[in-house]
Amino acid sequence: MLAEIKGLNEECGIFGVYGHTQAAHMTYYGLHALQHRGQEGAGVVVSNGQELKQAKGQGLVTEVLDENELMNLSGSSAIGHVRYSTAGGKTYENIQPLFFRSSTGSLAIAHNGNLVNANKLREELECSGSIFQTTSDTEVIAHLIKRSKQDVMIERVKESLCELEGAYAVVMLVENQLIVALDPRGMRPLSVGRVGSGYAVASETCAFDVVGAEYMREVEPGEILVIDDEGMHSDYFSKTKNRAICTMEYVYFARPDSNVDGNNIHSVRKRLGKKLAEVAPVKADVVTGVPDSSISAAIGFAEQSGIPYELGLIKNRYVGRTFIQPSQELRERGVQMKLSAVRKIVEGKRVVMVDDSIVRGTTSKKIVKMLKQAGAKEVHVRISSPPITHPCFYGIDTSNAGELIAANHSVEEIGEMIGADSISYLPIDSMVEAVDRQDSNPNCGHCLACFTGNYPTDLYEDSVPPYEKEQLIGAKN
Ligand code: AMP
Ligand code: SF4
Repeated sequence: MLAEIKGLNEECGIFGVYGHTQAAHMTYYGLHALQHRGQEGAGVVVSNGQELKQAKGQGLVTEVLDENELMNLSGSSAIGHVRYSTAGGKTYENIQPLFFRSSTGSLAIAHNGNLVNANKLREELECSGSIFQTTSDTEVIAHLIKRSKQDVMIERVKESLCELEGAYAVVMLVENQLIVALDPRGMRPLSVGRVGSGYAVASETCAFDVVGAEYMREVEPGEILVIDDEGMHSDYFSKTKNRAICTMEYVYFARPDSNVDGNNIHSVRKRLGKKLAEVAPVKADVVTGVPDSSISAAIGFAEQSGIPYELGLIKNRYVGRTFIQPSQELRERGVQMKLSAVRKIVEGKRVVMVDDSIVRGTTSKKIVKMLKQAGAKEVHVRISSPPITHPCFYGIDTSNAGELIAANHSVEEIGEMIGADSISYLPIDSMVEAVDRQDSNPNCGHCLACFTGNYPTDLYEDSVPPYEKEQLIGAKN
């Protein structure tokens, strides 16, 4: 059982709306804009002020929710979730929002991130009588809220959040309130906006643009927002700890049209590419980026180096992300389905191939081969982040240490393994400069743990697989 729970690692998107006549439709559009954050499952829970109703299922938002379903979900507040999980957690029950009925009313909850003390809390809760339906961390939060002895809902939620350790952006819905919270380190992005006379919250601001919401601000670390007919009320359940927003959100995960911490993601990625060109120049004829997430960095590299940017690689847009397929064999097949090299562009050329990251090395190896088969004379790999040497325990699937190529091989070895004529990564200092706000108040604080092994939270024995325990728990203590 425990092993199964440990396998559960989620990268997700959350959305919430309060005070809009078509809350379910709004959530549908919001989730659609967040689809890149998870393609395995989607769900919506709506409140009409008296009762909560839900629809959820496996697959893309457009596959799970149709017009009939949305018409049945009438109400003026809603929350929704798109979900990606690694093997072990792919059951229907784990699809969010999770929905609970009790004598005191209903509660729906959706969460982005990963708790590092979820297994510990789950064991405690089971000892005191809780029975779990899912292997999801999110259910732990719901049971903590139910167990709390506080009289008022908001106090029960605050007390429960104080017990959590890790990364979490949470939206909760009860009959007449939308409750929103972010972990004290602000490890995941979460923003709030106005939509008509109501409010919207979303993992990424690109969802606001789609539903016509006006961005107000980011939810602050340790903050809890209660949104109801009285408006929006802010409170803090915890003091802000050192901010540690996930750097991989900037490097790879978020959509280029989103803003995180006031920073447009496309602009950040261009800066990463420019810095890469400064620190790792190379004589070449064309620069190409691995679509879609590395295009911005490739444009930045081209601008800085003066080497023309070309569409040397084309993505088949009807195939999902490489990571959707859980097995290595399927992943490799996925890369082939997904990308093609443009022969006329790369033939006889020295090509700079910019990618945002190397995790297992599967993608880079395939692409170098593909470019060479299409006639590229040389392929120089430039990665717009440092080597990923440590696993993530906060909800981004950067794999375990055994599979991470940079945890086990030097940069030179990686270059040889993927067949590159040269390879360079962006140094960590350059990455931090590029992802920092460029205003007078930089250094907002980032999590860099997958590049450094310096985890911003304590790591609990139960959240770390046995083969990584010695290295990680030992390093932390
Ligand atoms: P790999 O083939 O395992 O080396 O994966 C590297 C590719 O996956 C790169 O092209 C990245 O854009 C992408 N990538 C990086 N991090 C993630 C992640 N957490 N989830 C899904 N894809 C990722
Ligand atoms: Fe993001 Fe890496 Fe930190 Fe995980 S370890 S939260 S992927 S920066």
